[in-house]
Amino acid sequence: MCRKTKFRESCDHSSAILPNQPGTYAVILHVPRMKKISIGVLGEWMIETGYYAYIGSAFGPGGLRGRLGHHVQSRGHAKAHWHIDYLRSIAEIVEIWWTDDAIKREHGWAFIFHEQMDTETPIKGFGSSDCACVSHLFYSHRKPNIRRFSRLAHSHWKDHLRIHLAVHFEG
Ligand SMILES: [Zn+2]
Repeated sequence: MCRKTKFRESCDHSSAILPNQPGTYAVILHVPRMKKISIGVLGEWMIETGYYAYIGSAFGPGGLRGRLGHHVQSRGHAKAHWHIDYLRSIAEIVEIWWTDDAIKREHGWAFIFHEQMDTETPIKGFGSSDCACVSHLFYSHRKPNIRRFSRLAHSHWKDHLRIHLAVHFEG
């Protein structure tokens, strides 16, 4: 059963519902049990139980559907391409927040998470090797709230297009 929310545009177990247009996204992951994992060049990290938000954007071929399809399907697959691929071995995706806004919003979204969402940045440089952000991965004991995030985003950027929620990918 899918919960109805104001932001819910789609509700499916598959990334096929996502548009193949470019856009920005946040993958909300849950880690049920603390575990030490290796994250490529970032080394070994003890991953705490709780929720993680990973911010990215997909402006290449395949758009949001292609990129998020990769994140959804990457669990348990050995070859890691992005930092999040390592985290996926122990984390399940619980929500995907996305917008097909043509402006690349990922660093702005990371800024909001860093400054205004009461989250922590346990792994500096995670997903932010190519930008000035401290991290693109944010930790919280509680699941981050899309309504709160959406309010903040729309107050920062009046022209920001709608942020959608897709739920129940796994578990
Ligand atoms: Zn960034």
